[in-house]
Amino acid sequence: MIIDSHVHITQDGSWFGSQRSAGVEHLLDAMDSSGTELALALPLAGHISNDFVLKCCRTHSDRLIPAAACDPRSIAKKDLPETLSKFVDQGFRAIKLHPRLNGYSPIAPETLHLFEALSKQNTPLPVVMDTLFYCAHYSLPKDPAGIIHDLALTFPDVNFVFCHAAGVDAIRVGEAIRQCPNAYIDFSYTIQRYARTRIWDDLRYLCEHLDARILYGSDFPEVDLKQSVGDWQKLLEGLSEEKRTNIFSDNFRKIFIPLDT
Ligand SMILES: [Zn+2]
Repeated sequence: MIIDSHVHITQDGSWFGSQRSAGVEHLLDAMDSSGTELALALPLAGHISNDFVLKCCRTHSDRLIPAAACDPRSIAKKDLPETLSKFVDQGFRAIKLHPRLNGYSPIAPETLHLFEALSKQNTPLPVVMDTLFYCAHYSLPKDPAGIIHDLALTFPDVNFVFCHAAGVDAIRVGEAIRQCPNAYIDFSYTIQRYARTRIWDDLRYLCEHLDARILYGSDFPEVDLKQSVGDWQKLLEGLSEEKRTNIFSDNFRKIFIPLDT
């Protein structure tokens, strides 16, 4: 079984001015032809609304699971508990953060307030966070692996999926999270972007040695689903069935289950 931890859909099917289609029907067709059974649909604050994603996921509840996106700076600290509880009540299964796209630091005070509030919830929603942190809006006080390590250690009750495993820093991120049981990584986009560099070997090493913390993800429509599944199959070639199952579905189930409640 293949569960994709990282897809995007948009209301008009457009995707940031590219030729790619982010329409929900296109996604469902692509899931069928790539053998993907379930996918976590990620809104993007300021770009893809939570309401739209929730509506699509309700219509296709056997295939799609909704995350809720937010820009932590847009929620007053006092309103955080209520906002987070509302996400749970509405049926969202994760919180999606994209610091680079929205222009806030991954360790801005507002981001940390969000994690604090989340860690006080009965069952905190997992956080799915973009980790291609470098951008023109802020400087980083330490490297991405150090930031990821700090977040995982500071908020042990929150499960984090660090999307793209910080790209070129993937191997460092792998070492950073090794002893943090609440931290997971996905290689979506990174696996294609750096396919012909030394990074491929790093990703393979991590799959061999850290399979309990890696989630399959495509970053559809940025990446074609068939290509994504094929690239991951190639990356995992020769690994045990157990490791492959961990990466393709079981780790996702561990974090996002119960799926049937
Ligand atoms: Zn993405």
